[in-house]
Amino acid sequence: MGVKKKLIRAFQEIAEVRPTGKGRSNKELKRVQDFLCRFGYLKKRGFKAGTLDKKTSEALSHYQRAHGRRVTGDFNKATRDQMTTSRCGFPDMNKGIEFSTTCAWDKTDLTFTFDVGTNDVAGQQEFDAVRSAFQSWAAVTPLTFREVGLGDAPDISIGWRPANDPDLDMRGGTLAHADFPPACSVVTNSLPKPVHFDDTEHQWVIGRRPGGFDIETVALHEIGHILGLAHSNVAGSVMFPSVSSNLTKRSLTADDISGIQNLYPPVAVPTTKELLLQRLETIEGELAEVRNLVGTLP
Ligand SMILES: [Zn+2]
Ligand SMILES: [Zn+2]
Repeated sequence: MGVKKKLIRAFQEIAEVRPTGKGRSNKELKRVQDFLCRFGYLKKRGFKAGTLDKKTSEALSHYQRAHGRRVTGDFNKATRDQMTTSRCGFPDMNKGIEFSTTCAWDKTDLTFTFDVGTNDVAGQQEFDAVRSAFQSWAAVTPLTFREVGLGDAPDISIGWRPANDPDLDMRGGTLAHADFPPACSVVTNSLPKPVHFDDTEHQWVIGRRPGGFDIETVALHEIGHILGLAHSNVAGSVMFPSVSSNLTKRSLTADDISGIQNLYPPVAVPTTKELLLQRLETIEGELAEVRNLVGTLP
């Protein structure tokens, strides 16, 4: 049961907007303002539609900074190129305010389940790709991820959805979305937490293929949100908001690892010296015991 594909070019409506400087008006700039609202850079009210006013310019500066671009506050070509790259459907900010280091789950043993897959890949390779992404996060944290059935009250549910997804609209250039942990939800207040891939507008693949998006690459990013990470402005990191087609990014970077270990500090492993000192203590204890025993004998 696949969803009928209607592949799109990411944010085509923005590709058509001509560069606009501060203070200038341009009817089509409204599309850029809508984009900035959608991803949390601009509050829905308080700006002049179609004019690059102060609020819009501030939002553009934020956007440029968050994407490692030169900060000008104008709508220039570099900004337009960045905005027309496929990206995560999750906002980067909330009403113009950065997400503070969000929150963690209150347990380390999490469960997940799969519902609907995609027909873009053979068999159940899409599920294997997601399982592998979970392992990458488990490797650098005390977290464990156990696969359970839909009826076993899973914490996380993974599936492919029409772009017009009821819990978060993914139409127009967004690849997938997730949510934060229960204590800082932005999409739903109930479990399971969603990891949803847009199965209408994108071609899902395993590995690098022109026009295709690697499932494990996108899953790794979305699981980062589920665990509590917001978007990163470090280009090349897994938690950077946008991703190109024909690309794989399957390993966590130093930025991702330091972010996740802030939320879930690794369990301390004793050093060799600590282990030897422990052994010495045990041996000394045994020696004392033997001496005592010897002392009781005639
Ligand atoms: Zn994201
Ligand atoms: Zn969804």
